[in-house]
Amino acid sequence: MFRRLILLGPPGGGKGTQAGLLAEKYSLYHISTGEVLRRAVREESELGRKVEEILSRGDLVPDELMVDIIKENLTEDRATDGFILDGFPRTVPQAQALKENGVEIDRVLFLDVPRDVLVKRLKGRRECPSCKSIINAESSSVLDDGACPQCGEKLERREDDTEETINKRLEIYFRRTHPLIDFYRQRGLLVDIDGDQNPEMVFQEICDALE
Ligand SMILES: [Zn+2]
Repeated sequence: MFRRLILLGPPGGGKGTQAGLLAEKYSLYHISTGEVLRRAVREESELGRKVEEILSRGDLVPDELMVDIIKENLTEDRATDGFILDGFPRTVPQAQALKENGVEIDRVLFLDVPRDVLVKRLKGRRECPSCKSIINAESSSVLDDGACPQCGEKLERREDDTEETINKRLEIYFRRTHPLIDFYRQRGLLVDIDGDQNPEMVFQEICDALE
């Protein structure tokens, strides 16, 4: 089975959900970029202090530092039996750096979702201000009563899910991250997954591609 994986896809494409399911089913180490950065800061490592300084200025973490952080995670014991990278690489230079650092990848799963579906999904996303659950309004009836299914609090739209920021995030994705599809296809690593179906079916398609 292929166990060194990258999950590639647009915002709203379902990467987080699928990465979580995969990590659980196959005991893979789920390396989520956002989670890794927050943890580095919490642990106050040398890297963490650098990251904190950059983030407090409102800047993006540069490619080099991002690669160092991911590398540090990949050398952990729990990564030796397999891992899934979620949110990294985000650009072709990052992918090249990964390769130059000797990180071998077995498969890159590309969650393909049409742009109009992404916009609809991102617009329908709601967050619970109390327990921080993220609810996809498209796939449930929560929008009607607007209550969190976990704790009953009134759901809110996330600040970064306005029409303007949604379009901006998709633009950045198509310009900077989408070229990774060709990068990995040319290396024979890419698997196209139809991400425009319910999460259970997406997961089944991914599992079939890995075994
Ligand atoms: Zn809640």
